[in-house]
Amino acid sequence: MTKLRLAIVGAGPAGIYAADLLLKAERKFDVSIDLFEQLPAPYGLVRYGVAPDHPRIKGIINALRDVLDRGDIRLFGNVRFGEDITLDDLKRHYNAVIFATGAVRDTSLDIPGIDALGSYGAADYVSWFDGHPDVPREWPLDAASVGVIGNGNVALDVSRMLAKHAEDLLVTEVPRNVYEGMKNSAVTDVHVFGRRGPAQVKFTPLELRELGELRDVDMVVYDEDFDYDEASKDAVASNKQVMVIDRVLQSWRKLDSVNNAGGTASRRLHLHFWAKPVEVRKDEQGRVAALVYERTKSDGAGGAVGTGEMREIPMQALYRAIGYFGSPLPDVPFDKKHGVIPNREGQVLETKSNQRVPGIYATGWIKRGPVGLIGHTKSDAMETVRHLINDQGSWWRPEQPEEEAIPALLQERGVLWTDLDGWHRLDAHEIALGEPEGRARIKVVPRDEMVRVSRD
Ligand SMILES: Cc1cc2nc3c(=O)[nH]c(=O)nc-3n(C[C@H](O)[C@H](O)[C@H](O)COP(=O)(O)OP(=O)(O)OC[C@H]3O[C@@H](n4cnc5c(N)ncnc54)[C@H](O)[C@@H]3O)c2cc1C
Repeated sequence: MTKLRLAIVGAGPAGIYAADLLLKAERKFDVSIDLFEQLPAPYGLVRYGVAPDHPRIKGIINALRDVLDRGDIRLFGNVRFGEDITLDDLKRHYNAVIFATGAVRDTSLDIPGIDALGSYGAADYVSWFDGHPDVPREWPLDAASVGVIGNGNVALDVSRMLAKHAEDLLVTEVPRNVYEGMKNSAVTDVHVFGRRGPAQVKFTPLELRELGELRDVDMVVYDEDFDYDEASKDAVASNKQVMVIDRVLQSWRKLDSVNNAGGTASRRLHLHFWAKPVEVRKDEQGRVAALVYERTKSDGAGGAVGTGEMREIPMQALYRAIGYFGSPLPDVPFDKKHGVIPNREGQVLETKSNQRVPGIYATGWIKRGPVGLIGHTKSDAMETVRHLINDQGSWWRPEQPEEEAIPALLQERGVLWTDLDGWHRLDAHEIALGEPEGRARIKVVPRDEMVRVSRD
């Protein structure tokens, strides 16, 4: 019987779902799958993006772990495609590869002053609070007034994690260095800016409502933002999600804390709608001093146009949460404009000619761009795997398909790879660290420590 030797690069949900679906699919050939992951731990943004105070979503890891624990997928952690293993290597050892490398960088925002000290991308802050091994251990939380640009769920995650009191994270898996950093935060006011109105936001009701439940944090909304035109009224009346968002915001308008009149909390979270950032003002040391924004208004069709009125809010730090962006991989086509691997339903295409590149597939955020929830990566994987199965005639013909060839190659290159047993050891170690404090786990952050525990 023909055998498909498949490499999958990236052990986030997209890569793991693709492996699972292929192994379960009806097909006329045997499959053996090697999953390469640059980090010593699997699960991608579920481990390193979803906030620590969202244990229900983090729980998706249980389903992903069940797939890996079945034992029919080999995991090679701490192996980076492009450095430790190349496309030529994969062609020599496999029939095909699926790239599921996601998106970890921030989309850039081109406004004057965005390069000021104290101006950050949300992705870096998220990586810090989720204990990603490749970001610095300390994060400067010395600003009293902080801005967050964006009106999606990541903007709300970042705002919540800026406003939340560190002690309230102690029930979660938050790493020790993050708890210590947050304990000393000087923040009093977090200002969130959205270009459009309350009826056009991208965040979901659940994430919004959660802000109102933060201990010792007053929500502040501004009456002038709720002067709805017909387009906004229609959106509220016709879309259940928008209706709930509106209801939550309206309930905050009625509170004493609105417009900062009578709120008693030590921290405030302000939501500014119809506010388009135009410039970051710097102080003499080049640090963030204020955000200048233009007041916008509805264009009548769900968009916003500038009014010419400029406003300014003093702040000492600014986070832009306007989207993630994929990174190019060596020798793999890349669409620089959209930050994805160019593809047709997961079959990778040459950048210029749009011709199919045999043997190479993509799935997840690197295939479709950084939008959508974890569940969407499953339908993505289904489409990609369907093509992979049907393309049997155009698979590569590897010179060395033997399974032992891969550990031998990594060994020869001095790569300290970690395997599934190693991940089990690290997982158990983190759970044990959390036990004395009654926590589900405490994450290990330094890469060398992760590797040491895994390879013990
Ligand atoms: C801050 C944030 C919060 C989120 N919260 C939620 C939420 O609450 N609920 C929800 O449903 N969705 C949430 N999402 C969306 C969800 O995380 C994504 O839909 C999902 O993770 C995308 O899966 P993926 O496998 O394509 O990418 P990823 O999860 O990013 O996985 C990609 C994997 O590839 C690896 N990789 C990258 N490059 C290489 C390389 N060169 N070599 C080897 N390995 C490599 C990475 O290390 C990573 O493990 C959130 C996203 C973010 C950014």
